[in-house]
Amino acid sequence: MIHIAHWIAGAERAGVSGRVAPVFNPATGEQTAEVDLASVAEVAEAVAVAKEAAKGWRSASLSKRSAVLFKFRELLAERTGELAAIITAEHGKVLADAAGEVARGLENVEFATGIPHLMKGSFSEQAATGVDVYSIRQPFGVVAGITPFNFPAMVPLWMCATAIAAGNAFVLKPSEKDPSAALWLARLWAEAGLPEGVFTVVNGDKEAVDALLVHPDIAAISFVGSTPIAKYIYETGTAQGKRVQALGGAKNHMIVLPDAELDAAADAAISAGYGAAGERCMAISVVVAVGDIADPLVEAIAARLPKIKIGNGADKDVDMGPLISAQHRDKVAGYIEAGAEQGATVVADGRDISEKSGFFLGATLLDNVTPEMTVYTDEIFGPVLSVVRVGTYAEAVTLVNENEYGNGVAIFTRDGGAARQFQFDVEAGMVGVNVPIPVPVAYYSFGGWKASLFGDSHMYGPDGIHFFTRGKVVTSRWPDPGTSAIDLGFPQTR
Ligand code: NAD
Repeated sequence: MIHIAHWIAGAERAGVSGRVAPVFNPATGEQTAEVDLASVAEVAEAVAVAKEAAKGWRSASLSKRSAVLFKFRELLAERTGELAAIITAEHGKVLADAAGEVARGLENVEFATGIPHLMKGSFSEQAATGVDVYSIRQPFGVVAGITPFNFPAMVPLWMCATAIAAGNAFVLKPSEKDPSAALWLARLWAEAGLPEGVFTVVNGDKEAVDALLVHPDIAAISFVGSTPIAKYIYETGTAQGKRVQALGGAKNHMIVLPDAELDAAADAAISAGYGAAGERCMAISVVVAVGDIADPLVEAIAARLPKIKIGNGADKDVDMGPLISAQHRDKVAGYIEAGAEQGATVVADGRDISEKSGFFLGATLLDNVTPEMTVYTDEIFGPVLSVVRVGTYAEAVTLVNENEYGNGVAIFTRDGGAARQFQFDVEAGMVGVNVPIPVPVAYYSFGGWKASLFGDSHMYGPDGIHFFTRGKVVTSRWPDPGTSAIDLGFPQTR
């Protein structure tokens, strides 16, 4: 049995709390490892090490920091396959998807290599006679990231690349369900020349999270996970005076207008609905069929379902792997049951699957779903695609805008005017036009609206740099002793 420890002061550190959690290979259902769960005292020790390290790292020149990022980027690009295999073994997603996750994380590292440019302030010469004003951005010291199981490498990279480049020490509390990717990243940072203590991993559960939330030396917390926990993290962290961004769950809709290219829409619904077994925060979980495209669309999606090959994600020709745990698989299966009971038409039932050894569930398609059904109201986070039929574009937009979540949304149409109107009308943070999973590239920022994000800044990109730094404005005069005089009036520039 593999034992997964913490990463403190540039080396693995075995836990001493006496508490561990099991880690499974979801494709076989077997426990493959156990991970240490940090106590409050262990978190405090890790933060103390990070606090010391932050002082030196902050003083490192921008080009020195950038050089470490470049080296880290090279190593990550070279060894993508190694990390992808680790992700697949603990998360279950197929290897190509795991490699895709790493590639999207890599983009964030590439963005952060430009830190000398990203940290530039502005300068106003002669704001008053002989007075210059300029702005600078400075790191906080120690910041923390708390991440979900579904992107065990990409989401930590969303956060740590910008946080570290900006001059902070970063403490990561990864998901206890698939923690090995975080340890692998820690080793890579060390190899890239990052000083000890600048990147830390404390494994754990609620106890470790709560310890970070109240620790006085953690200045900012970046969180990604489910909505109830995101709300808790935001409320608790901000009440402690910390800066917090907390990204929550989602219910992403894909609107298909009657003029859409049918095959492209069906392909997109399949890819975005069942990729990673639906365990993506940007997965499409609701197809909104507008008008008379509904029948042919449902038929086209249903016809593609038998072609999805389900199995162990480590096998090359597999399209869809298992869910993260037996409990989660059973919960998702419960939603299918409830959908059927509440009147949805079960076009394809994933519970009929033959793979029984791991945490598998097949691709499920529910038609005639209505907004009161639990399959519509709740984030299912599994391979279940619901089709809601509406008569008009206006009804489709109202449906999306009345939904509790506002993460991603997509429209499929050939009408540029309709797409533009949609982008104007819709209440969601990330919009796709004939693109089902509109995850922004790394030089924009990622974030939803409504119950999908608590806080006011999005993740990575320009917002990430802003989130992990504080602004300072300097007003400066180098006086000519000959012009010095006492003046008790309020300083003016005119
Ligand atoms: P989760 O909320 O259960 O866990 C996320 C993190 O919070 C983990 O590190 C976990 O250890 C910790 N945690 C769990 N319960 C806690 C508690 N009671 N107190 C303190 N900490 C706690 O989420 P998950 O199941 O790992 O991930 C799936 C969820 O994440 C989905 O809802 C998905 O939509 C969401 N997600 C959102 C985004 C986004 O960008 N908005 C991205 C990825 C995942």
